[in-house]
Amino acid sequence: MKATLEGNKSTQNHIIYDVVISGGGPVGLFLACELALAKCSVLILEKAENPYSPLKQIPFGIRGLSAPTIEALYRRGLLEQLEVHKRLKNPHQSNKQGARRQRGHFAGIPFYDGDIDISQWRYRLSSSTDTSLISEMLELETVLSRRAEALGVKIRRGLAVTGFHQTANEVTVQVGDRSFKGKWLVGCDGSRSVVRKAAGFEFAGTEPEFTGYSAQVDIADPEKLNPGRNVTPSGMYLQSQPGYVIIQDFDGGAFHSSEKPITLQHVQRVLRRVSNTDVTLTALHIATTWTDRARQSTSYRNGQVLLAGDAAHIHAPLGGQGLNLGLGDAMNLGWKLAATIQGQAPEGLLDSYYTERHPIGAQVLDWSRAQVTIMEKEPYARALNAIIRDLMNTRDGATYFAGRVWGINTHYDFAGGHPLVGYSVPNFAFEDGKKIGELMHDGQGILLDFDENASLKNWVTEYADRIKYISGRVKERLGVKAILIRPDGIIAWASDSEPDCSEVNNAAARWLVRSGLKRQKG
Ligand SMILES: Cc1cc2nc3c(=O)[nH]c(=O)nc-3n(C[C@H](O)[C@H](O)[C@H](O)COP(=O)(O)OP(=O)(O)OC[C@H]3O[C@@H](n4cnc5c(N)ncnc54)[C@H](O)[C@@H]3O)c2cc1C
Repeated sequence: MKATLEGNKSTQNHIIYDVVISGGGPVGLFLACELALAKCSVLILEKAENPYSPLKQIPFGIRGLSAPTIEALYRRGLLEQLEVHKRLKNPHQSNKQGARRQRGHFAGIPFYDGDIDISQWRYRLSSSTDTSLISEMLELETVLSRRAEALGVKIRRGLAVTGFHQTANEVTVQVGDRSFKGKWLVGCDGSRSVVRKAAGFEFAGTEPEFTGYSAQVDIADPEKLNPGRNVTPSGMYLQSQPGYVIIQDFDGGAFHSSEKPITLQHVQRVLRRVSNTDVTLTALHIATTWTDRARQSTSYRNGQVLLAGDAAHIHAPLGGQGLNLGLGDAMNLGWKLAATIQGQAPEGLLDSYYTERHPIGAQVLDWSRAQVTIMEKEPYARALNAIIRDLMNTRDGATYFAGRVWGINTHYDFAGGHPLVGYSVPNFAFEDGKKIGELMHDGQGILLDFDENASLKNWVTEYADRIKYISGRVKERLGVKAILIRPDGIIAWASDSEPDCSEVNNAAARWLVRSGLKRQKG
């Protein structure tokens, strides 16, 4: 499986990697880690020579992580390597503490700690990881690169993919006049993905309403700007740290599309209009623009070519969801692609990447469109905005919005079975202090059996190479007797009553064990 030879020149490149990944951003790196964990050989081709950029550092590089991402990093032993969140307070949050502590927002409308009713999240345990966390792009990429390299992934920087050619079981990836070979190619090369364009994926969606600005400036009269997030009749502005401003200007995305240079005068003009002040900027240090263009690839696979992350979907960064969505793609795709490459995937496993992840992506795009709609200035939008604001001030409203923003209710529709099926496994805490998430570092499927059931124990011995058996008493078992967990932490089967081995067998055959494969005794 592992590649062994590498030539210097394009045509003499003898290695055939299991997977070539275009793009070494967070999604490409995390996917590479998942594939390498499952013993695939992986090459990342990354356009940028230098992984460091001020846009990836605080404050520009600040990224909110939500529950599914935090769980994914925790389950691979990576969460504890993130340090930035320990020293920094979220600059997008207010200073207030206690019940009026702001925990997130929808279209700039905050929801507060004291209004969120966590008892509505029936399967969330006190031993769960955080619901949200701030992180820094640079740190996240550094942690992921380190792990990828430790697992044997080759990362080649300064090589921009320019195209590819595929046959039924191989892809030749072009970097100018050089080429690299993989059995599979995954485009993780961001919103302007070359892989997406070269493969001819349809990128369907909606055009932008605004240009967003992130800028570091010197302000002569900062007191003219209000603190916190300010939704105004012509957009939104936020000064989260002195001199660091985020602006949203409803210009139909015109400035961003024009690709004109971002000048001090231009940023001042926009900030004055949006804030309705005569604030004066004296210097512009760094600036970047973005929009709320919302598009999603109508398919995630073309032959041996797949898409993940921003290459597969783009939308406004309002409420911070894109990175979480992309890392979720990687967690979902890694083990499925690895099992496919190794000939161990049950029928249709790889197709479930699209059927599971496309709807989640579509929901995020709609979440972002809904926010943009009620931030617009016309009376209809203002009327709707007022109603949403009222709803968010109710307990059920705040709980709903927090659940959506933090991804608490994220699940896949597996149709039927126990209510936990399709959801992320609760972080069960064993009496010896260990938690189930800590036992998932190796990325294997798990049969979790709280009662040491003799027939389950006997059943699993036949799959010892694919499914790890874990038993033990937990502090809170939520009425469940046994659970089958996929490598991505999603529950494939669960039972509250005496476990039925034919049920768990069916679930294993759907997700973990290819029929016809000789079973191995453990
Ligand atoms: C202002 C702002 C704030 C945001 N805040 C949040 C937030 O709080 N939470 C959140 O979840 N998301 C947030 N996002 C979105 C998030 O940053 C992206 O969704 C995320 O970075 C996507 O990761 P990715 O790896 O798919 O793509 P990218 O991060 O874009 O990485 C793609 C990589 O591919 C490389 N590349 C490009 N072309 C090629 C090529 N031809 N060949 C080889 N390599 C190539 C690039 O150099 C890059 O390294 C925010 C975005 C913006 C703009």
